[in-house]
Amino acid sequence: MDIPRIFTITESAHRIHNPFTPEKLATLGAALRLEAGTRVLDLGSGSGEMLCTWARDYGVSGTGIDMSPLFTEQARRRAEELGVAGQVNFIHGEAAGYVSADKAGVAACLGATWIAGGVLGTIALLARSLRTGGIILIGEPYWRRLPPTEEVARGCLAHSISDFRMLPALLASFGHRGYDVVEMVLADQDGWDRYEAAKWLTMRRWLEANPDDAFANEVRAKLSSEPERHVTYTREYLGWGVFALMPR
Ligand code: SAH
Repeated sequence: MDIPRIFTITESAHRIHNPFTPEKLATLGAALRLEAGTRVLDLGSGSGEMLCTWARDYGVSGTGIDMSPLFTEQARRRAEELGVAGQVNFIHGEAAGYVSADKAGVAACLGATWIAGGVLGTIALLARSLRTGGIILIGEPYWRRLPPTEEVARGCLAHSISDFRMLPALLASFGHRGYDVVEMVLADQDGWDRYEAAKWLTMRRWLEANPDDAFANEVRAKLSSEPERHVTYTREYLGWGVFALMPR
């Protein structure tokens, strides 16, 4: 079981696979007023930076599930490195439909809401693992500026404008679903650069090390086009944030 190889090439050097910086992740942890011993469930946990740093900084414990063997292995190594391997557990597996037996004080999905068919489906899935009084975290893009055409939306790697909402409409959708928005931390354009621009050097180094790989043409084409695509589209039009929700 694995994710498409292009992601494990372009994001192999990322600790955070979204537009959050380490500072934003720490801000979010502080904003949630996490208490030691809180159980955190993270669906699509990537390389585990959220669980590992929050275990170190706030004494939480928890489980992450991710479909990428590479990212899961990186998460386990990060836990060892930060001295929190006794508090956090990373499972290589399918997060769609995953419900934990031990109810979590924080149930999160940051940048992987397709696992349950979108934001609302993912909220419903996470709610099944949440203890009474717990907090759901959703990390999701929104439009900073509404794309004037479908072509611009596709330039942001969306299928269509309707994939995402403007921020007020996204927050309203949580309310309509019966949730209070109790906190939020938003990424910024510099954070998008950390996520996107970090892929470029990784791709360049990978090409130098793997010139004869069957993927080399695809990676070369991406490295040639991605910087301009990013500054033309994603950087200008797309926002990203983590929204903390509690059922009303
Ligand atoms: N939450 C992490 C990773 C976000 S990137 C972070 O913010 O750093 C999206 C992640 O979802 C990737 O690590 C990918 O491997 C994982 N993923 C994609 N589909 C999945 C699925 N069906 N089940 C579990 N993980 C999945």
